[in-house]
Amino acid sequence: MTLANTGLSSAEAARRLRVDGPNVLPRARRRHPLLLLMEQLIHFFALMLWVAALFALLAGMPALAVAIVVVVVLNGVFAFAQEYRADRAAQRLRDLMPLRAMVRRDGHPHHVDASELVVGDELLLEAGSRVCADGEVLTASGLAVDESMLTGESVPVRPVAGQQVHAGTYVAEGEATVLVTAIGGHTELAGIAALTQDAKPPRSPLAGQLHRVVVILALLATAVGAAFFGVSLLLGLPLTEGFLFAVGVTVALVPEGLLPTVTLSLARAAQTMASRNALVRRLDAVETLGATTFICTDKTGTLTRNEMSVVHVWTPAGEVSVHGNGYEPIGTVEGAPAAVDRVRALAASAKRCSPRAHVRLQDERWLPVGDPMEVALHVLAGRVGVDGPSADAVRFPFDPRRRRSSVVDFDGVHVTGAPETVLPRCLPVHGAEDAIAALAGRGLRVLAVAGRPARPGDEKSWENAERDLELLGLVGLQDPPRDDVAEAIASCRSAGIRIAMITGDHPATARAIADQVGLRGPDQLVVEGAELPADLDELGALLDRDGVVVARVTPEDKLRIAKALQRKGHVVAMTGDGVNDGPALRAADIGVAMGASGTDVAREAADLVLLDDHFGTIVGAVELGRATFANIRRFLTYHLTDNVAELTPFVVWALSGGTIPLAITVLQVLALDIGTDLLPALALGAEPPNSRTMRGRLRTGSLIDASLMRRVFGVLGPAEAVVSMAAFVVVLLAGGWRLGTAPDAALLATASGTAFTAIVLGQLANAYACRSAARPVMKKRLRGNRLLLWAVAFELAVLIVFLFVPPLPGLLGGHAPSALGWVLAAATVPAVLLADTAAKAVQARKHARMLTDG
Ligand code: ADP
Ligand code: MG
Repeated sequence: MTLANTGLSSAEAARRLRVDGPNVLPRARRRHPLLLLMEQLIHFFALMLWVAALFALLAGMPALAVAIVVVVVLNGVFAFAQEYRADRAAQRLRDLMPLRAMVRRDGHPHHVDASELVVGDELLLEAGSRVCADGEVLTASGLAVDESMLTGESVPVRPVAGQQVHAGTYVAEGEATVLVTAIGGHTELAGIAALTQDAKPPRSPLAGQLHRVVVILALLATAVGAAFFGVSLLLGLPLTEGFLFAVGVTVALVPEGLLPTVTLSLARAAQTMASRNALVRRLDAVETLGATTFICTDKTGTLTRNEMSVVHVWTPAGEVSVHGNGYEPIGTVEGAPAAVDRVRALAASAKRCSPRAHVRLQDERWLPVGDPMEVALHVLAGRVGVDGPSADAVRFPFDPRRRRSSVVDFDGVHVTGAPETVLPRCLPVHGAEDAIAALAGRGLRVLAVAGRPARPGDEKSWENAERDLELLGLVGLQDPPRDDVAEAIASCRSAGIRIAMITGDHPATARAIADQVGLRGPDQLVVEGAELPADLDELGALLDRDGVVVARVTPEDKLRIAKALQRKGHVVAMTGDGVNDGPALRAADIGVAMGASGTDVAREAADLVLLDDHFGTIVGAVELGRATFANIRRFLTYHLTDNVAELTPFVVWALSGGTIPLAITVLQVLALDIGTDLLPALALGAEPPNSRTMRGRLRTGSLIDASLMRRVFGVLGPAEAVVSMAAFVVVLLAGGWRLGTAPDAALLATASGTAFTAIVLGQLANAYACRSAARPVMKKRLRGNRLLLWAVAFELAVLIVFLFVPPLPGLLGGHAPSALGWVLAAATVPAVLLADTAAKAVQARKHARMLTDG
């Protein structure tokens, strides 16, 4: 069958691509932005405020009603803008997800972008591939296709030649060549996708957790508001006034801006991560990444470059070393002529086992196509002078449990695989074991190559074929460690994150590479998958240490390792690239897949995709995750502190039985929430990672914890509240007011303006205090966060507008402070900074004592 052997020509493929267009699903119809905006206007808080506005209107306070409406709309627009941007960012992340396909064109396998597939292409599928077009199976070996995404049917189907496979399904086992019959919008998937596009994605765990916090706060706010309503009625206030207070308290406590700000700061972090080759597949993975305490990494491609070359070959007739540049199939060999002859036979067999790999000359550089190890075998064949295309053959592809692959063709059986699984199937050979130890000890990956003449029935199953073999030799493959891995490992160590190498490779090879990159820890533990204890608790106890090497693991081992470490309380990041790694990737808190190598299945199961396959990229993502987590806590602290200052006047008023007038009006509270508070909170969400981000263990796993509460309700909030209340009372007293009398309206307005100004200025200082939870403001570079400088400038401008531009002062009920008022109001700045610095000093001393004691 000529078609099956050459595929389309690249010229013809390019022509069809031009005519038929790219192989992409029609774009999901996005919900109209207006619809999204509407959603922001009718969610829980918005509804609460609408009701308040309605009541205000009914109670004969149109100005308040209008003001509340303005707040709802402004808030809605702001939230919409943030969510819209976050949504766009998430969409862009999805577009970055690599989706490639292997096709045969011009007679050779080629990697193309899945969007470049055309009808008539010969698609090469292997275990773990996503089928990205509809097609007819031409040849299949051991093919099993998981169609659950399309049909919901979880048992894989086994299509044979002539049957159909569909876009959107996955190859669970085996291999196939498929003739593409429909692409893009013409596939069956396109029809189904159109039906399901409207479904909203489920809420992520972080969003859920936040939502709960927000709802609890809102209910609390409503309850407190109702209580105040009761108190004011008891005090004999008119209904409308009591209602006003209730609204004020509620609005002061409801954290309207919280959710969108969190979403946007996660989205922004995700974008930064993507620009550094770390692609998160769900926004809240950003936060989980920051909490990571254990990284289980594989070796090949992550710690090493995945640039393989055969440097040494052992045969029963002697050894040969091989030299050459990169993947250039020309090189030199060194060794006795008899040995070189045996290497030729070995290379010919090894090449037959790797029919889907080859090297391609482009712009005078030799580039690998396919699995780098298989490519290395092709290069070896070239260097020892073995040539010629591979013949039609029955193939039993590599799988990570069997750890072998084989082909049966016209002149016999050819097997490559991990030595422990190949040697027992060969006639005994003297010296092989020693040779394996020597090669692996140098950090080389060792592959055994074996073969024999064909026998009837070989093509039926690998059990038949991979028997009674003759060992042709052992191949030592070099895969140098990546340059900056050692640095990334050191950074993890300083962050208190443990690392384990989990690899399918030989223990001696794994150990040598672990030593080369400085991964092996003080315990020097190297275990094999088969030796791991069956009990999860024992397994956890064995592996919960730094720098462990686990070799010859199966995908099932990986799953158990992830679970065992989680039982020990770890947040586990686990890498995986194989077709069977899905369960381990899903079980881990952060499943990490490779974007450059690895299977589509693994990418689909992962939370994080490394576009460059690089270990250092994981560590960089963890750092950004930590920084983002800290930022969310920063603006939570900022927001909540403001609430304390806003609530205090109402509490003082109620507790004093109305003798001390209400320091700020409901409208001023709204002005604070919207006018001055949103931007600094946003800017705090953009605080860059600092040198301390990766120093020391993460001390807390939850967003709102005791230390945050202490800071808000014990330090920052009281400092701001006390000084602003004091400013209010002093201005009143200076104006002639006496306790027990009602202040004159103009005086009250000036005093209110002072209290308002005091809170705004206090929040300025607070914004800077919140830049760090541990370091005093003086120790931070003022210009380290430019966005915050702008936000603060804006905040001041808005303050001036609120105080001086009519009719705002009259409407809000706060006039510009007197000279005395300004001085008193400005006192919140040193008050907040002093309280913050003192609290941080105490905390630092306590921390130091804990360190010396412990
Ligand atoms: P790693 O953790 O280094 O990625 P793998 O699970 O990919 O390890 O491989 C495990 C072992 O299986 C390798 O050491 C090698 O001996 C063998 N092996 C890997 N790929 C192939 C292949 N394509 N054909 C034959 N044997 C292979
Ligand atoms: Mg591998």
